[in-house]
Amino acid sequence: MNKTALIIGSGLGGLATALRLEKNGYSVRIIEKENTAGGRLNILEKDGFTFDIGPSFFSMSYEFKELFDYLEIDIPFELNELNPLYTVFIEGNEKPYKIYKDLDKLAAEFKHIEPNFKKEVKKYLLGAKNVFHDTEYKIIKRNFDSLWQYMISMSTVPKKHLPKMFRTFWGELERYFESEDVKIIFSLVAFFLGATPFNTPAVYGLLNYTELEHDGYWNVKGGMYNIVRGILGLMKERDIEITYSTEIKNVDYKGDEINGFIDQDGKKWEADVYVVNADAAAFRGKMLGRKKYSEKKLDKMDWTLSPFTIYLGVKGKIPGIEHHNYFLGDNFKEYADTIFRTEVTPKKPYYYVNVASKSNPNCAPEGHENIFILCPVPDLRVKPDWSDAQTLADEIIEDLGSRVDYDIKNNIVSKTVYTPTEWQDKFNLYRGSGLGLAHGLKQIGALRPANKDEVFDNVYYVGASTHPGTGLPIVVIGSRLVTERILNEH
Ligand SMILES: Cc1cc2nc3c(=O)[nH]c(=O)nc-3n(C[C@H](O)[C@H](O)[C@H](O)COP(=O)(O)OP(=O)(O)OC[C@H]3O[C@@H](n4cnc5c(N)ncnc54)[C@H](O)[C@@H]3O)c2cc1C
Repeated sequence: MNKTALIIGSGLGGLATALRLEKNGYSVRIIEKENTAGGRLNILEKDGFTFDIGPSFFSMSYEFKELFDYLEIDIPFELNELNPLYTVFIEGNEKPYKIYKDLDKLAAEFKHIEPNFKKEVKKYLLGAKNVFHDTEYKIIKRNFDSLWQYMISMSTVPKKHLPKMFRTFWGELERYFESEDVKIIFSLVAFFLGATPFNTPAVYGLLNYTELEHDGYWNVKGGMYNIVRGILGLMKERDIEITYSTEIKNVDYKGDEINGFIDQDGKKWEADVYVVNADAAAFRGKMLGRKKYSEKKLDKMDWTLSPFTIYLGVKGKIPGIEHHNYFLGDNFKEYADTIFRTEVTPKKPYYYVNVASKSNPNCAPEGHENIFILCPVPDLRVKPDWSDAQTLADEIIEDLGSRVDYDIKNNIVSKTVYTPTEWQDKFNLYRGSGLGLAHGLKQIGALRPANKDEVFDNVYYVGASTHPGTGLPIVVIGSRLVTERILNEH
């Protein structure tokens, strides 16, 4: 008889692991608390519009290719490379910057503020490239069985990168670029890690290499949710069943033996192997009662910012905006310094805007735009009360309208707002943190909650808060690492 696997959660990490285990002869079932699959990679269908609610692009597209090559099937959705990668509007500037992978085109964007850009960026990206390739297989794409093994692996990373561990991301940018705008634009990636460029190490400049030189950014034709639709189609063919609206609330165990997980109705779910796709830190604390992950300890960990998201259906076409855009103010350092720790709603918020209808007409009725706005805000530890959500939403909508010169406010035909509270409640995201545990040096590799449980030898983890970390391609790598572990150990 086939071995059985139960996966708790149908986020991308859970779905990818289900496919890999099935390929290796496991009989797989998934249980999901929501009534749709995908976790944060999900959709909202409303008033004739279809919104991707979370991820809107990704780097390292080859990790998706790796997944489907492993399964020996064609990739079930169409990848689309972003060009330009994104557009950046900075308050007070006459026109936005278009960020291209093509360095000649990018140098032309910056020629009035950074005349030596091409020469300097090549030097900067070479350093970032070396860090990426010198750590890719030593730190990211491998399992660690102990802290010791991790330290040994770290010690084999070439010593020339050591200064980048001690210098800040911003400090590194200052060595190459004069212009504040260039430094700001290059340092936006630091926020994905759950840090600011002023307190994260320069090694993470490797993310500039991934976006500007290595593989760029990609999205999916017809919308990001086609990733999940494609995977669900494959699961159907393979008899991988998902049971929706079922939340694991408890566990049945004796000593280091686990007998099953228990849902909200008291039903026990048993399997030979369990893979937890819920947050790997919070699940250990809340469900398994581990002291290292008590609420007090979880609250002391570093978490990524929370999303404040707005989904707008707008009448008319807006010429002054592209598909992927950042809208920034004129007080970057001050904003970065306070955003993680202020309980006051940001006055002049910084935000990201995705107008999916620019390249996917099917997501909005004809003559309308589909607008997704993401404003990173402090998590619920810092700001637990979101009763002022509509004020923040109105401020952002007003600001956006004036910056793209279109009366958005009076042309809204559909509007939905998710505060960090909704994000927390929907997908069990700890304190509403959008990307899970941050990626500071204290929370990566063997220092991140492991993908194998400390007590139960048949409980594993996959997803944003376990190794190797957050982001769509990274959780796909995580699905490979956890599968390798399971196949080695069972
Ligand atoms: C607003 C936003 C924008 C983002 N943008 C990008 C982007 O542009 N590019 C990018 O690469 N990444 C982006 N990310 C990050 C990316 O979405 C995540 O890293 C990735 O989707 C995490 O996948 P996961 O496998 O951890 O699963 P999750 O998405 O966390 O899914 C876990 C699933 O488990 C379920 N679950 C939890 N607890 C239980 C339980 N007890 N019982 C049953 N089910 C349970 C949840 O309901 C959920 O469906 C974004 C995230 C957010 C929130």
